[in-house]
Amino acid sequence: MRRYSAFAIARESARYHTGWERAWRSPEPKKEYEVVIVGAGGHGLATAFYLGKNYGITNVAIIEKGWLGGGNTGRNTTIIRSNYLQDPSAALYEKARSLYETMSQDLNFNVMFSPRGVIMLAQTEHEIRGYQRTAHANALQGVETEWIGPQKVKELCPIIELKGPRFPVLGGLWQPRGGTARHDAVAWGYARACSDMGMDIIQKCEVTGVKQSDGQVTGIESTKGSFGCKKLGIVVAGHSSDLANMAGFRLPMESVALQALVSEPIKPIMDVVIMANTVHGYLSQSDKGEMVIGGGTDAFNNYTQRGSFHHIEETVRALSETFPMISRLKMLRQWGGIVDVTGDRSPIIGKTPLGGCFINCGWGTGGFKAIPGSGWAFAETLAKGEPGELAAPFGMERFIEGRFIDESVAAGVAH
Ligand SMILES: Cc1cc2nc3c(=O)[nH]c(=O)nc-3n(C[C@H](O)[C@H](O)[C@H](O)COP(=O)(O)OP(=O)(O)OC[C@H]3O[C@@H](n4cnc5c(N)ncnc54)[C@H](O)[C@@H]3O)c2cc1C
Repeated sequence: MRRYSAFAIARESARYHTGWERAWRSPEPKKEYEVVIVGAGGHGLATAFYLGKNYGITNVAIIEKGWLGGGNTGRNTTIIRSNYLQDPSAALYEKARSLYETMSQDLNFNVMFSPRGVIMLAQTEHEIRGYQRTAHANALQGVETEWIGPQKVKELCPIIELKGPRFPVLGGLWQPRGGTARHDAVAWGYARACSDMGMDIIQKCEVTGVKQSDGQVTGIESTKGSFGCKKLGIVVAGHSSDLANMAGFRLPMESVALQALVSEPIKPIMDVVIMANTVHGYLSQSDKGEMVIGGGTDAFNNYTQRGSFHHIEETVRALSETFPMISRLKMLRQWGGIVDVTGDRSPIIGKTPLGGCFINCGWGTGGFKAIPGSGWAFAETLAKGEPGELAAPFGMERFIEGRFIDESVAAGVAH
């Protein structure tokens, strides 16, 4: 595959852009693969990429029922941060954040990583104590965060109303190297690199069954026929329970819709990302100028991949207390995705009761930020047959052993 470069752009502009290649192939599926990954979202594609890059395993198919990146990966609000409380989470999310720093160079694809800084606002006394505790934990974990007072918050984000009718801004947890990236580009960059390594990305192909013999996975059935494989990686976010059902086991997980919306584009007014977890909303400004706004999940289990009016009202009403200028914006678009939420709000990465079948799920409302770290850790698990240091704490047996990685404050409401 030809590299993208300033020289390539100049060359193509001189010949009317007729020389660009397709970014990835659309091959017919083979009958047998070493590894089949179900789900071409960011996590599935990153897993395939690191299988090839770190372990030289390229006889890989990534099977996607829709189009690649069309699930939560292409629907999220792109917040990247690693300010989690527990050591295993901080290690995994910080690995991911650090891989984002060089992702454009590593993939030769501009993923528009923008480390503009993320603030998680404290609007109650309880939140002050909670975030100061997280700042102390992060210092020990080597994650760069800082507790900042209200005046610094105002300096970083002049449009904020510090007094607030119900909840004044009392300070915040500031992660200066957190930020955003372009979600589609992350999926496209990984897809292009995987295809370049000879992997097959099979789109519009739904997996309908998992084949097994003597407790060992042997392949999958799909709408494009059945393929054999030695190892199977399930990476389907909100549909994880369906796939687990096909493979014959149950997951401690719920699927719910999570929604977001964007305003009309306006001039640059905000160059940080802010999460206000007490009023329950967050916002940032996209490169196009739209205010990107999100809130909490639906309060009931569902597979509805779309938005709803009551959600716009709840989220915008909540945020307009702290950011009054929002009340004067027109909202342009709204959408939803189906997220996979575990009881301790941490992911599941590891083996399953079916031999050769591995799962990576439970990223819930906050897995975009984790894509490269998750792919790195899950590729290791698939290649070695056992989770490595990063993934080991996240096995699903923790729910039987009561060894929870409780991130309900860091992950349950914020993204
Ligand atoms: C509105 C919203 C806002 C969010 N905001 C943030 C944020 O700001 N920051 C953050 O870190 N995270 C955020 N998230 C969460 C984040 O988007 C997800 O955790 C992450 O994208 C999950 O990636 P994935 O690759 O696991 O799943 P997906 O991108 O959903 O990929 C899974 C793929 O599996 C496919 N699939 C399912 N079933 C089958 C089948 N039977 N056969 C074949 N393919 C199948 C699906 O079509 C899908 O493409 C948000 C999510 C939503 C919905």
